[in-house]
Amino acid sequence: MSLLSGTAPTAPAPARPRSNAVIVVERVFKTYTLGEIDVHALNGVTLVIEKGDFVAIMGASGSGKSTLMNILGCLDLPTTGHYLLDGVDVRGMSDDALADVRNRKIGFVFQSFNLIPRTEAIVNVELPMVYAGMKRHARRARAEHAMRAVGLGDRMHHLPSELSGGQQQRVAVARAIATNPAIVLADEPTGNLDTHATLEVLDIFSRLNLEGRTVVLITHEDDVADVAKRVIRLRDGEIIEDRRQAPVDGPPPRYHAHGQSRPGARPAEPRP
Ligand code: ADP
Ligand code: MG
Repeated sequence: MSLLSGTAPTAPAPARPRSNAVIVVERVFKTYTLGEIDVHALNGVTLVIEKGDFVAIMGASGSGKSTLMNILGCLDLPTTGHYLLDGVDVRGMSDDALADVRNRKIGFVFQSFNLIPRTEAIVNVELPMVYAGMKRHARRARAEHAMRAVGLGDRMHHLPSELSGGQQQRVAVARAIATNPAIVLADEPTGNLDTHATLEVLDIFSRLNLEGRTVVLITHEDDVADVAKRVIRLRDGEIIEDRRQAPVDGPPPRYHAHGQSRPGARPAEPRP
């Protein structure tokens, strides 16, 4: 697939095109206007992420991390600049097309688990597939598979209120991966978790990456960033550091390092 397919003829070529780039961000600015004040959340970010990479995006509060994630996840568009996802410039897409890309290619995990209360874990995991119009038996099978993949095969019918914070976040991860997305985006996914639950959730992200998924994890904690293959640091909406900790095509650095065992855990479905 050509990196440039879908770009307007006048669009500048990406600075560092690579055949396996899945995310290409070119000179992206994002400005929010609040009354008479312009907030420059991103100030010319250029970034290429290859398929299979595991990237931690770091930076202080207000440095633009969530703004960048919203753009990577097609939840928002750059004010200026280009974002190419799998070689296609999102700027040219209709809202429906964007929603479709989001559903098919991207799994989201947030700091607050965003589970529907009084609704069984398995049903929470099924919800995106309900919206995608998948048949009942197919989505149930996928949801069960995803729940087992995060080590919660024995908690499928629990309500969120009957699960620990770490377990709730694992349900949210199961929901993110049930549709088998190539990219997992997580915004401070361990921000509300204790150390043990953090390790469990990070171990799952490492395993998803080992299976070939591209993972982008936002955090402001060094310990969390240690599990990534590459660390990007933002300050005032600009990239001030881009450091590789492990090769893209190797295993993530800390996988298995802490020896967590997850009874019942199984690898998620391989991507087609
Ligand atoms: P981070 O996730 O690193 O804490 P954000 O991307 O949320 O940073 O925010 C970057 C800057 O943009 C901050 O100054 C923030 O106040 C501002 N900002 C974020 N979202 C909005 C919005 N919807 N409207 C106005 N300003 C915003
Ligand atoms: Mg944020």
